[in-house]
Amino acid sequence: MDLIIRNGTVVTPEGPRPADIGIEDGTIVSVGSQSDARASDVVDASGCYVFPGGIDPHVHFELPTGKAVSSDSFVTGSEAALCGGTTSFLDFALFDRDRSLEDRLRERRRAADGRTSADYGFHMELGAVDIERLGEIRNMANAGQRSFKTYMAFDNREVEVGENELRRFAEVLADSGGLLMVHAEEGGEVRRLQEELNAHGNLAPVHHPRARPAEIEARAIDIVLGTAKSTGAEVYVVHVSSRVGLERIREWRAKGVRVRAETCPHYLLLTEDVYAQEHGVQFLANPPLKKLEDMEALWEGIRDGTIDTVATDHCPFARSVKMRYRDNFLQAPKGLPGVETRLPVMFSEGVVRRGLPVERLAELLSGNPARIFGLSPAKGRVAVGGDADLVVFDPRREITISATDLHMNTDFNPLEGRMVQGWPAQVFLRGRRVYHNGVFLGCDADGRYLG
Ligand SMILES: [Zn+2]
Repeated sequence: MDLIIRNGTVVTPEGPRPADIGIEDGTIVSVGSQSDARASDVVDASGCYVFPGGIDPHVHFELPTGKAVSSDSFVTGSEAALCGGTTSFLDFALFDRDRSLEDRLRERRRAADGRTSADYGFHMELGAVDIERLGEIRNMANAGQRSFKTYMAFDNREVEVGENELRRFAEVLADSGGLLMVHAEEGGEVRRLQEELNAHGNLAPVHHPRARPAEIEARAIDIVLGTAKSTGAEVYVVHVSSRVGLERIREWRAKGVRVRAETCPHYLLLTEDVYAQEHGVQFLANPPLKKLEDMEALWEGIRDGTIDTVATDHCPFARSVKMRYRDNFLQAPKGLPGVETRLPVMFSEGVVRRGLPVERLAELLSGNPARIFGLSPAKGRVAVGGDADLVVFDPRREITISATDLHMNTDFNPLEGRMVQGWPAQVFLRGRRVYHNGVFLGCDADGRYLG
């Protein structure tokens, strides 16, 4: 064998169990006792968990926002992902009204191919005007493109979808096996509230949550899941941030709607109070951070299975970029870093502090994203025949989060100064060691396209 990871506690969907993992040609060939097996490389994982490599289904590398491009490139972003135990990520093939969907995907792949060290794929972004491309959407979904992302709130009206566009997209995807992803906030209501705040000169970052209250998320979820019910489409709601939004998802699911829910670490760890801080502008993201009751409700959704995935919505900017907009939250680019810290932060807050079973964490970060986005059985679990994407995770290590120590290309971290318990010791991508105790060992051209 090429590699044996011995004496670790392997995190399987059925629970953690002590086992050795044998790896050959990048694939897991055995999980169990390997006491007499030989390998060219042996890792002692005593005292460590062995997690399936993380799959982050929501990142924005090199995203042009109009104000600035998100500061992690495919190169730096994928390195940071690997260093934090995420071995695959899904980004977006960007909307462009003048290009066919195939062209948009080609264009995005031109940016990523040969420049990512982790495995990767893309969701297709759809804008409202793509209602003229229903045939293309159908063809692409029939050809295996799994996921299509829409925005119910967006500052470009060619992009922002209403009920009519959602229904047309949902009809096509329902028969072609595509997944409709939705940013669920009511765009019209956001605009009305923003204009009202603007008219009163209320443009400090502290007002951002008032322009996008929890109710606009809940109502948008009602609209899209009503559409899912009437068309039979499967819907994935990105970055659910509120208690009321989550309740709507529970209710529609109970009525038989096929809905998947994602949340992000920042909604589980931070509240809107940060916007009142002097550097509040740095925390701006859409949807905004919410209240303590929302945070607690999201943790409950994680425990009871209402939430299927925890993704990062990674979209970082330099401090100096956001600082320019500290007097005008409307103009500021929105987004937070997180692709590197997802596993350790969720382990520390979820498993250590809140008693979340470790196998449930593995499902949220890897198993469920793999199944939902069609990456199973190669990805998503530690099992014979699967890719040897593995994280040897040391639950004893204590790290204080600091932007300067991390690999993400930003000088801001929303969790700066927070102590977390547990950190990856080694990370393997298809059997190759890509991270070891703080040092990135991967190669920029090694990421494999998963489309
Ligand atoms: Zn996003």
